[in-house]
Amino acid sequence: MADLAEYRRKRDPGRTPEPVPDEGVLPRGADDTFVIQEHHASSLHWDVRLERGGVLVSFAVPKGLPPEPGVIRLAVRTEDHPLEYAGFSGVIPKGEYGGGEMFLWDRGRYETVKWSDREVDVVLHGDRVDGEFVFFRRDGRSGKDWMVRRRHVAARPDWESLPEGLLPMLATAGSLPSAERDGDWSYEFKWDGVRAVVRVEGGRVTISSRVGNDVTSTYPELQALGARLGVTQVVLDGEIVAFSGGRPSFAALQQRMHASSAAQARRAARSTPVTLLVFDLLHLEGRSTVGLAHADRRALLEELGLSGPSWLTPPAFRGDGAAVLAASREQGLEGVVAKRSDSLYSPGARSPLWVKITDWQAQEVVVGGWRPGEGKRKGVIGALLLGIPEDDGLAFVGSVGTGFSDAELAVLTTRLRGLGQSVSPFTTAVPRERAKGALWVRPELVGEVVHRQWTSDGRMRHPAWRGLRPDKGPAEVRRLG
Ligand code: MN
Repeated sequence: MADLAEYRRKRDPGRTPEPVPDEGVLPRGADDTFVIQEHHASSLHWDVRLERGGVLVSFAVPKGLPPEPGVIRLAVRTEDHPLEYAGFSGVIPKGEYGGGEMFLWDRGRYETVKWSDREVDVVLHGDRVDGEFVFFRRDGRSGKDWMVRRRHVAARPDWESLPEGLLPMLATAGSLPSAERDGDWSYEFKWDGVRAVVRVEGGRVTISSRVGNDVTSTYPELQALGARLGVTQVVLDGEIVAFSGGRPSFAALQQRMHASSAAQARRAARSTPVTLLVFDLLHLEGRSTVGLAHADRRALLEELGLSGPSWLTPPAFRGDGAAVLAASREQGLEGVVAKRSDSLYSPGARSPLWVKITDWQAQEVVVGGWRPGEGKRKGVIGALLLGIPEDDGLAFVGSVGTGFSDAELAVLTTRLRGLGQSVSPFTTAVPRERAKGALWVRPELVGEVVHRQWTSDGRMRHPAWRGLRPDKGPAEVRRLG
């Protein structure tokens, strides 16, 4: 039955480097060699080819051969390939059939347990794959879609399935560990982005958020990490950030977080690309690593050498936390996360063994308006609208709704009622959601807030009220940092 007519029909020997033998009598082998090629075509897959009757009977397996029994994967029966193909690796030109890079992933001998037109049961002995696999037609179907499963035993007796639904370990807010204990800790920069647990299986990436929501389709550029890892199964922990001017920008990331369709996400990925900063490893090749010490997990992570167009492994520094914190300040980063080097990974837990040390910077502000409160804050201030004097007037820099004592709320409310005016004192636009229901005041009161950092559009991130500064006049207020 074997013939290469379909193989030849799909290829132009003048355009592809793949072997296209002349027609003639098929060579005879011993029906006992196999090859697996990793094929970075439009969709990554592994081509499993079994020598049989003078050709290579071929299956394209999108996620690769399963590492453990119980996992059933798609295996698309493709056209028979010539025996010469067993030695092929190279780049099939774009636009040609199967365009993309192909390389030899494994090869070896195989034994046939059963071979029919519905089921191919073989034992593979390769360098990377060793085990019995059954390719079988899906129930009642006669098309190209077959399935494959591993029979009897996993790739290793201790193989653990890739976990699903792992939540990230969280840090407690605090300060640097004491100097005597400094050497017991590892320090990383704190990145201003969104947390992500990234699962890679069969070259495919799935991403879940801090609370476990699936956000895979939001970040299409991270799929390339799957192609980079190939069949290597991992669960990674990291932060997705959007860089702007060399620094993580939460404002830029906002452009990415709310895509409502895959098409919109792809457009946003082109205009505002993200980077996955990988800082921890939770599972690797059939082994959970959450029970390993942080230092050991980091060593395994670094061995993976994850550095690519949309991902990298930022450093973790053992000891010298003060210097790392100083460097983070110098770089305008959010702060530092200290992780005890002997700490295990506790999924979903907020742990004192991870400590985030962030800088909150103080800033004097001029009050330009307020929004009345609701609920428990009915009758007093809900939020203050804040400005900083610039050359051309009072620039809106954000609103603050936290950090007030009850006494301050009462005093401020009375003061602000006395300063009311009908028009906004701000000379820059106040976002509609902030301006809605706002009462404007003469810009006379000066206060102080603390905030995390400036956004790229000149607003304060997460400001909290610290109090009035009666010692200062509006003209003395300056933007800091
Ligand atoms: Mn292929």
